[in-house]
Amino acid sequence: MKADVHPNYETIEATCSCGAVITTRSTLCAPIHLDVCSSCHPFYTGKQKVLDTGGRIERFKARFGAVSSK
Ligand SMILES: [Zn+2]
Repeated sequence: MKADVHPNYETIEATCSCGAVITTRSTLCAPIHLDVCSSCHPFYTGKQKVLDTGGRIERFKARFGAVSSK
């Protein structure tokens, strides 16, 4: 390799929000945090997860739930 042109390429740990830790390599040279990984993404788990931020689903049901339940 040519000297002084290549960035540092070190082994780092990527921590997912589900708790999984993946060891990878990056020029970032610092640990990173992931939102989703292959062990918790719905595509791989086959499970649907609903991200209800701020009770938006509950508010929708309160407004339109009576209409759709008939
Ligand atoms: Zn994960």
